[in-house]
Amino acid sequence: MNNNELIARSNRVFINTYSRYPVAMVEGEGCRLKDADGREYLDFLAGIAVCSLGHCHPAVTEAIREQAGRLLHVSNLYHTVPQTELAELLIANSFADRIFMCNSGAEANEAAIKLARKYSPAGKYEIISLEGSFHGRTLAAVTATGQPRFHEGFEPLPEGFVYAPFGDLGVLENLISAQTCAILCEPLQGEGGVRPLAREYLAGIRALCDKHQLLLIFDEVQVGMGRTGSLFAYEQLGIVPDIITLAKALANGLPIGALLTTEAVAAAFTPGSHASTFGGNPVVCAAGKVVVETMLADGFLDGVKAKGKYLAGKLAGLASRYPKIAGEVRGMGLIQGLLLTPEYVARGAEIVNKLFEAGILANFAGNVALRFLPPLIVTEEEIDRLAEALDEIFGEIS
Ligand SMILES: *Cc1c(COP(=O)(O)O)cnc(C)c1O
Repeated sequence: MNNNELIARSNRVFINTYSRYPVAMVEGEGCRLKDADGREYLDFLAGIAVCSLGHCHPAVTEAIREQAGRLLHVSNLYHTVPQTELAELLIANSFADRIFMCNSGAEANEAAIKLARKYSPAGKYEIISLEGSFHGRTLAAVTATGQPRFHEGFEPLPEGFVYAPFGDLGVLENLISAQTCAILCEPLQGEGGVRPLAREYLAGIRALCDKHQLLLIFDEVQVGMGRTGSLFAYEQLGIVPDIITLAKALANGLPIGALLTTEAVAAAFTPGSHASTFGGNPVVCAAGKVVVETMLADGFLDGVKAKGKYLAGKLAGLASRYPKIAGEVRGMGLIQGLLLTPEYVARGAEIVNKLFEAGILANFAGNVALRFLPPLIVTEEEIDRLAEALDEIFGEIS
């Protein structure tokens, strides 16, 4: 069956929640995808920062195959080997002492919201998040998301969420009330347009949390797991949160979410406080274990930093050749955004479509930046191909 046939079938049965590219993907390997018409794509999105080791990484696929033949699922009524192994690895390589596993980023943030409320003294339930943030689509996670367009039509929203304007510590402190229990933020806003929070700003948020006895929750769903060149983004920022949430790249494509925290905070949850039927399923955790081990192997994360610099340099080169179209390059490691100028910002989707026609997948984030999230195994030659395609497109539209 070809693209058009598959698209027609899909469009007949799915609720229309996605505006998809007119293509059905059938195969992937490394940084490449193939559609049902046999056309190849160079992937600079990695399933939205998920397939960080590349599509169908042989060791991940083998771990899934092996575990699927041994034990697929038992629920969290029992302990399993892969779950414990993955938990030990994440804890040994982070600030955390304890983990909770679930199935997605939104669920990890839901767990963080519940844990923050349960941990805090009675009457403290408010969570402050930042404007422009993205924390997921379940009702509490979407309410925590500081973008009104995601709230419309879903009112009444759960109580206890407050939004702080981006970058202003004074206003943030004024928003802290007797009910506040936590501040939730992404160290770098992904969906919000690849917008990093300055180190001093994050240090200020940490200081406010300490002063007012609030929990600091870092949503590392997109930037965690090697994306920035360290296993977790907080490591490079030198700021230690109380809770981090993870998901996307943790199992290279299988659905998983996790919350990591300290012994003291974790103690607020007791048997029955929170649960997930599938969370930390043996197959998913077997894949996750390979992901963590691969990323921690010698040179891998340094390679991410080096290739991130290379990509940022190529994008900066384009911005200086086409100052009318593109401006600032921002990001960390292999999450990089190229901001479009006010004159061209309305043409972001058009540029992404032209890249798509050229066989390269990327997207337009926060209506401000072309966002590039290649698999972390991307090569300099593949980055060159992206830069050449952008050069051609910018030349054409300028
Ligand atoms: C993608 C994302 C989420 C939501 O994850 P899902 O797995 O889609 O629920 C939450 N936070 C951030 C920062 C994300 O990028």
